[in-house]
Amino acid sequence: MARPVILTVDDDPAVSRAVARDLRREYGEHHRIVRAESGPAALDALREIALRGEQVAVILADQRMPRMSGVEFLEQAMDLFPRARRVLLTAYADTEAAITAINVVDLDHYLLKPWDPPEEKLYPVVDSLLTAWRESSDRPAATIRIVGNRWSSRSYELRDLAARNQVSYDFFRAEEPEGARLLEAAGADPDLLPIVITEDGRTLVQPTDAQVAEAAGLATTASEEVYDLVVVGGGPGGLGASVYGGSEGLRTVLVESRATGGQAGTSSRIENYLGFPDGVSGDQLTMRARLQAEKFGTEVLTTRTVTALEPKGRARVVRFDDGSEITAHAVVLATGVAYRMLDCPGLEDHTGQGVFYGAAATEAASCAAQDVYVVGGANSAGQAAMNFSRHAAKVVMLVRGPSLQASMSHYLIEQIEANPRIEVRTCTEVCAAAGTDHLEKLTLRDRNTGAEETVEASWLFVFIGAAPRTDWLDGVVARDARGFVLTGPDLPREENGRAPAGWEPDRDPFHLETSVPGVFAVGDVRADSVKRVASAVGEGAMAVSLVHRWLENR
Ligand SMILES: Cc1cc2nc3c(=O)[nH]c(=O)nc-3n(C[C@H](O)[C@H](O)[C@H](O)COP(=O)(O)OP(=O)(O)OC[C@H]3O[C@@H](n4cnc5c(N)ncnc54)[C@H](O)[C@@H]3O)c2cc1C
Repeated sequence: MARPVILTVDDDPAVSRAVARDLRREYGEHHRIVRAESGPAALDALREIALRGEQVAVILADQRMPRMSGVEFLEQAMDLFPRARRVLLTAYADTEAAITAINVVDLDHYLLKPWDPPEEKLYPVVDSLLTAWRESSDRPAATIRIVGNRWSSRSYELRDLAARNQVSYDFFRAEEPEGARLLEAAGADPDLLPIVITEDGRTLVQPTDAQVAEAAGLATTASEEVYDLVVVGGGPGGLGASVYGGSEGLRTVLVESRATGGQAGTSSRIENYLGFPDGVSGDQLTMRARLQAEKFGTEVLTTRTVTALEPKGRARVVRFDDGSEITAHAVVLATGVAYRMLDCPGLEDHTGQGVFYGAAATEAASCAAQDVYVVGGANSAGQAAMNFSRHAAKVVMLVRGPSLQASMSHYLIEQIEANPRIEVRTCTEVCAAAGTDHLEKLTLRDRNTGAEETVEASWLFVFIGAAPRTDWLDGVVARDARGFVLTGPDLPREENGRAPAGWEPDRDPFHLETSVPGVFAVGDVRADSVKRVASAVGEGAMAVSLVHRWLENR
């Protein structure tokens, strides 16, 4: 197989040669180093590489080039090799441009020139990008082919499931010749869609999530009956607990109902997570955390929902949606929150058919050159608007409040204000939606005047706050009125200030411990928690140290 390419482009021939020389010295054995001296020449080289069917792992581009800037070049390079990691080489004076580029071209890193000594400044960056590139491509998951109707919500769900689990897939519309040909070849009934064709040629008709996950090589059933620790939920909190549980020698299993990463996995760029000054995409961060957990021996089950928790003596039994169960000595609940649904006539009929909750990354490219409506005024809506503005003709943010100031981070407001493709409509809400097999129209209401306006709209992405999914814990674990899980000092006390009613151990509950001893809650699902990636990860780590204390003294 051809060696993957590392491409470098710089208009200064001496610099270009020097970067290529340093790269060749360190990576030449396993990679082909390609060098160009202008953006257009580098694009020609990339087209040739694509024609030969070779792969590009990393692209390093100088920002200050006369005919085409580094950012302009990377924007076009992304269309040819979307998975290639991108680095901008800048002078100190250009750092502003580099930071802006993080949002425009989803930049992975910027390197200040000069990069000497390469052992300290260049190689660690390229090493980590090569690892990220390999991990995103070398997953054991197989390529699957999905055939379905363009606007079927189940087709969308399967694409979303595959994308969020980093399963590579191709989607074929049943209405188009290639889709029809695949249906015929598979002998499938066009009335029973979607179908999934696995890499080994099996056809799954209207498959469940678990069937698709299994076909793609993801684990869905536990290999053992008893574990030290069961972690429920695979967002940052659950991943944090899994990494620490596994690395500290606990037999740990992580159970995730859809895809590891949780809410963070849907974030296009997390800019405030410690150690990533250039920001990091949520799926990159959480994919690496999952690999880290697996490296430490944690078993990860996908598409398995936990539906019951039962304390049995000192054991904690966790039951799944298919009726099966596993037993653990301790449990960490990290089930986070889910988006609230927007309630207005016509909207529910179009969920998955133009109306999406969350960023729906699989759909971003389909919005190219069209108008996109985003509902919400918090960071998640702001990040999505910035992301969609790279593809859409215009992004309209619909905000109920009078401004973004109260709900969004300052840095994001500045980015939105400076983005000519984003329009912010404050004091505005959606009051109706209409369409046939896809969203076609939205009715918007001005909350000050009550005036209504109907606009043509094919895409609506909703980010309106979130609620915990904890009904299944009712009667077992104490929760607050909104369903968030109470822990440690927040648990209701007896009148004399002693531990909660029914609490058996001869000690107070630990800080993250719920009303059931040995069951802990971390991250967004925990009452009064800080809703941040860093705090969820930190609580996951801290819960594991409390699990040890529980195991030692129970
Ligand atoms: C679009 C977006 C952008 C964001 N940007 C930032 C940011 O820039 N910086 C920042 O700090 N924070 C950001 N946040 C917030 C941050 O992502 C959350 O605070 C964080 O993900 C919470 O982690 P968690 O593990 O507690 O829960 P979640 O991320 O909600 O994960 C919970 C997981 O549990 C699973 N689950 C739920 N119930 C069950 C069950 N019964 N059985 C099995 N699995 C179950 C879910 O499928 C989910 O994967 C953002 C959030 C969103 C939505």
